[in-house]
Amino acid sequence: MLSRTSRLLIVANVCSLWLALIGSFAAHGETTAPPNPTLTSATTVTTATENANTSPQTTAQTQDGPSAADLEVCRDLVARTSRPEAFERLKPFCERARRLEGCISQEGRPIFHAEHIAPETKSPTRGKRILTLGLIHGDEPLSGEMTLSWVERLRGIPHRSSWRVVPMLNPDGLIRKTRMNARGVDLNRNFPTRDWNDEAIKYWETSSKRDPRRNPGESPASEVETRCAIAHIKSFKPDIIISNHTPYAVIDFDGPRMNFPRYRDLPWRALGNFPGSLGRYMWKDHQVPVVTVELGHVLPDTEALQDLLGTFSIEAANRAGAKRPDLFDLL
Ligand SMILES: [Zn+2]
Repeated sequence: MLSRTSRLLIVANVCSLWLALIGSFAAHGETTAPPNPTLTSATTVTTATENANTSPQTTAQTQDGPSAADLEVCRDLVARTSRPEAFERLKPFCERARRLEGCISQEGRPIFHAEHIAPETKSPTRGKRILTLGLIHGDEPLSGEMTLSWVERLRGIPHRSSWRVVPMLNPDGLIRKTRMNARGVDLNRNFPTRDWNDEAIKYWETSSKRDPRRNPGESPASEVETRCAIAHIKSFKPDIIISNHTPYAVIDFDGPRMNFPRYRDLPWRALGNFPGSLGRYMWKDHQVPVVTVELGHVLPDTEALQDLLGTFSIEAANRAGAKRPDLFDLL
């Protein structure tokens, strides 16, 4: 077992190699890059797991890359969320997929992520920390495919912002072809918003007429997948979150007042946020903006959308202003 320091050095070396390869950044930029937060988050996630109402199954640690078993599971998940013609392009994600300790679905599947840290700079136009989530709803595979496309693309392009990408947050729902997780909970109603205890179940019973597809769960953050998302937020400390969905064919934004850049394939439209939703949790409660992409039934120009939202994210995070320094300890 490698010590934390050794793993940190390995991560730093891999990052240095990558930066040298693309040749766009001076080598000294890497030395000022923040440490990989993945390596500092285990305690947080373990605590969340210990508080689980049902214990998730455990698998081997994979902080240094996936085990053979995880690799197989990952490729199966990528195959299920991608169109056949995209699979070969997207499956390399699995070779460098990581997961936070405790990021295991209700049925024991790993919840993978990858990240691309940009070199630190003091430039006023410097990038931000962008957390991107895909497939919160298991029956929205196109959202997983686009999120995978984004993370694979980041390997080959210089980028101003640091991205952490969790392309398949609800693997059990993906296998079951359900919006909800394996316990029948809509993860996007399960985030611990301040109004959850007073409003979430009441809202589900009245406004949602107990629609099983909107079931908020039995308590705030009762679901292991929700706690995994929160663990990513706490450890990565994003300036903004992009959450990819289908099928309403709009881009929604919970954040400061903005001029929205025109995007040919999807209009900007407010869909509102709800007790237990990510948008209410992060923006309304904690002032971290959330972009919700709702794809239609076909993929748009995903590269143009990533570029547009990358630029938009920097402006939106600047306009949202400084976060309180202890924000991520409070979550
Ligand atoms: Zn959705």
